[in-house]
Amino acid sequence: MARIVMKFGGTSMAGTERIRRVANIVRKQQAGGNEVAVVVSAMAGETDRLVNFAREANALHDPAEYDVVVASGEQVTSGLLALTLQSLGCKARSWLGWQLPVRTIEAHAKARIDAIDGDALAAAMGRGEIAVIPGFQGVSEEGRITTMGRGGSDTSAVAVAAAIGADRCDIYTDVDGVYTTDPRIVAKARKLKAVTYEEMLELASVGAKVLQTRSVGLAMKEGVRVQVLSSFVGDDAVPADDIPGTLIVSEDEMNELVEKGEMERQHVTGIAHDKNEAKIILTRVPDKPGAVAHIFEPLAAASINVDMIIQNVGRDKGETDVTFTVPQADLARAQALLEDKRDEIGFNRIITDSRIAKISVVGVGMKSHAGVASTMFRALSDRGINIQAISTSEIKVSVMIDEDETELAVRVLHTAYGLDAEDEAA
Ligand code: ADP
Ligand code: ASP
Ligand code: MG
Repeated sequence: MARIVMKFGGTSMAGTERIRRVANIVRKQQAGGNEVAVVVSAMAGETDRLVNFAREANALHDPAEYDVVVASGEQVTSGLLALTLQSLGCKARSWLGWQLPVRTIEAHAKARIDAIDGDALAAAMGRGEIAVIPGFQGVSEEGRITTMGRGGSDTSAVAVAAAIGADRCDIYTDVDGVYTTDPRIVAKARKLKAVTYEEMLELASVGAKVLQTRSVGLAMKEGVRVQVLSSFVGDDAVPADDIPGTLIVSEDEMNELVEKGEMERQHVTGIAHDKNEAKIILTRVPDKPGAVAHIFEPLAAASINVDMIIQNVGRDKGETDVTFTVPQADLARAQALLEDKRDEIGFNRIITDSRIAKISVVGVGMKSHAGVASTMFRALSDRGINIQAISTSEIKVSVMIDEDETELAVRVLHTAYGLDAEDEAA
């Protein structure tokens, strides 16, 4: 007997028909002799709708009340799934964030899970009850409802799996695994049998939204076995226990798979894109010690994450331009903060641009292989795609380009690194 956490995303939960399909998958997993807990998202589009209501009610919304509104989508689907499971003859009940409880810390709308009390859950599961938990929501130290940032149900699922010592956390979504890039953009994207925690963490953080970044970090820290697989399958589908999807594995497990010939080591494992950043250019900043600190300190104090930074070579008269990116959602706030500090920083103009995209290539293979970045620059330049900024880490190279060229760039790079599906057959 195994203990399994199953998480179903928004598309899988969109409407009673789909929820019935989910209930069938859950029932089968339990009928195989397993203890089962299920974490669910709101119906597809519902969280966006709720966010808009909150915005319309008050553009400068109180984050605590925002959470009350947006957490409700998951409350609906958890009750509906419990009802549907009962209609199939299963014992099932919902456990809301405050009932478990899922204790969170830090800010509303981007809360972090601190602790989950798994005892009541484990006891219920032991009695043959299917526990249905709304993802995304928790409860603050003050007893108020919190939410964990968009895509947060993935993190709820991994946290529940860690709390009850689950044997596996299956993340069911609308694609059948993690691919070399977003399969909705590149038809030749290839499904990966396995990907390391480190690579998945990097891919998620640079825009591959198939898993929330925090969920991968948590799984890595807690050693949770995670599989990404599709809920859009027929009755004759390969059982989840036979790992039809993509398994997130440790470096050691990956090495074993490579030795057995089940995985091939590539320099680049995957490519991701992110259209949610914006560029800020400050012109004619004094080229002297302390100038850059004056720019970034107020942004850091306001919890605005700065990503790529370029400081141009100083022009004459001891001045320079500084370019950097921030999340689009924080652009207006960042601009206002910088305007406030205009005299202190001493810049001339602020130029902003939201029509940019970040394209990243990721792979642990690049730790020991030179030339990955130059392949990227050559492939993009051959297609006339201009690079506006570059940043790198040990296992990633990112470039900033014009947003209109996103899809083209991803496709071109996918081919340049030999990742296209037909390459494998060749
Ligand atoms: P859910 O609602 O189930 O949480 P998401 O929309 O959050 O689903 O994530 C699934 C989507 O992630 C897929 O539909 C796909 O378009 C996208 N995606 C982006 N990059 C990848 C990738 N490398 N592999 C698989 N899917 C990806
Ligand atoms: N419903 C939330 C969202 O859309 C959380 C999730 O689905 O993971 O972001
Ligand atoms: Mg998601």
